[in-house]
Amino acid sequence: MLKYDGYDIVLQEIPNEISLCFTITGCQLACEGCHSEHLWNPENGKELNPEIFKELLIKYKHAITCVVFMGGEWSCLELLILINIVKKFSLKVALYTGLNEKQIQRKYPELLNILDFIKTGKWISSLGGLDKLKTNQILKDLRSGEILNKYFLH
Ligand code: SF4
Repeated sequence: MLKYDGYDIVLQEIPNEISLCFTITGCQLACEGCHSEHLWNPENGKELNPEIFKELLIKYKHAITCVVFMGGEWSCLELLILINIVKKFSLKVALYTGLNEKQIQRKYPELLNILDFIKTGKWISSLGGLDKLKTNQILKDLRSGEILNKYFLH
């Protein structure tokens, strides 16, 4: 069962989108220096089933253009159900994952066919996040193939 630690409306995660962002618990990657180790335990958080998720989208649909899942690929079938609900609301959808794109392609290829955006790459503190030129992380528009990291560099 997918569970979430919290959700928020955010402006920065996907350029030019207003996103309802869910932080999913149960991350299996254990990145060194992880900022949120409480997200590793799949028992933490509240249930995010399709009914609850739909209610939240009905509540926020006029305020947002996109939904971002921070993790959740490890429960791919459940995540796909939620992504399909997002599509029914004519909203865009993004996944932030610590896996790289090849790993997603190999383990969860269905996700690459349905997502609009994907941020890939585990957290490596010496390389930093999207606002660093040397980062290993990549934010990609899967519809156009455009790499969006440039929007985070100042
Ligand atoms: S992917 Fe994110 S939440 Fe998961 S271990 Fe790495 S930094 Fe932590």
